[in-house]
Amino acid sequence: MKVKCQFSILNYQLFFYDVRDFVMDRKIPLNIYKISSPCVGTVLENKKLTQPSSPNDTHHVVVGLEGSSYTYLEGQSAGVLPAGMDEKGKPHAVRLYSIASHRSGEKGYPFSLSLCVKRVVYQNPQTGQEKRGVGSNYTCDLKTGDSVKLTGPVGNRFLLPENFQEHHFIFLATGTGIAPFRGMLAHLFQNHFKNEIWLIFGTPYKTDVLYEEEFGQYRSHPNFHFVTAISREEKNKDGSKVYVQHRILEHQAKLIPLLRETNTLLYICGLKGMEKGIHEAMQVMCPQELYEQVRKRILIEVY
Ligand code: NAP
Repeated sequence: MKVKCQFSILNYQLFFYDVRDFVMDRKIPLNIYKISSPCVGTVLENKKLTQPSSPNDTHHVVVGLEGSSYTYLEGQSAGVLPAGMDEKGKPHAVRLYSIASHRSGEKGYPFSLSLCVKRVVYQNPQTGQEKRGVGSNYTCDLKTGDSVKLTGPVGNRFLLPENFQEHHFIFLATGTGIAPFRGMLAHLFQNHFKNEIWLIFGTPYKTDVLYEEEFGQYRSHPNFHFVTAISREEKNKDGSKVYVQHRILEHQAKLIPLLRETNTLLYICGLKGMEKGIHEAMQVMCPQELYEQVRKRILIEVY
């Protein structure tokens, strides 16, 4: 199978890992629905995930796919086609969001997918004028019963391996980068996964720990370790903000032995900036030879 390769040196190494273990001979649903003939889903639920006192507004939107051929895997993304026209009078461009549900659909809605979307509101620093992100505001404002046009699914790298039962997983997320891990965790636990899973989640405020209750319930599984890094409310000893990478360093006594297991995979999703910090933390805590091995077992999806 031919796969486009446009990654950094780090991702280039990953690419070979992906091809061997994730893509080859594997049936991945891809681009079933295109912009020219999108899937028309129905909104089944739109729930605010951030607490009312949060300055942020992040939503969990469940879209029913009944009657369509839309299928997907955890870690893939779906395109949303916002209704209306842009400033040039053309239909709005497609917006991609990570799917937050697992392949069998959202809890209680058998044939569906869910998206985790943060409302984007920009402020022009010069004029103070407010500008609203088209895709995020459209999706966050959808009401139950609304029709929504979807494309996709897309993405053939950031997936669980087919033989996931033979791996350990370390999931590192910031903000809405949590979405794919929600689907992956559901898939793992539904399949009685017994190996180690770490989820380290960075978010600005305690009010923004997305899906906190759900992940809290997984805590009854002794193999699940859920750690948060609340950047604007918690501080490191030197007074700096606590990020995901600081939590990695704090838990290194447990993480290093896990990283030594050659079947441990690390997944990073969220802000682009986190990638560098995570590599720096691993270089600090791992001997060079271990770091060199581990970096070939990292899957990255950052923007
Ligand atoms: P958010 O709520 O603002 O949370 C981001 C967290 O990361 C904050 O706590 C932030 O801290 C912290 N952070 C900032 N710089 C960091 C660094 N260098 N290292 C580690 N942590 C750092 O996040 P969001 O607005 O949802 O944004 C999430 C990002 O993920 C977006 O860029 C989105 O496009 C991307 N995303 C990607 C995918 C995907 O690839 N499939 C899916 C979903 C989201 P402070 O702000 O306090 O400094």
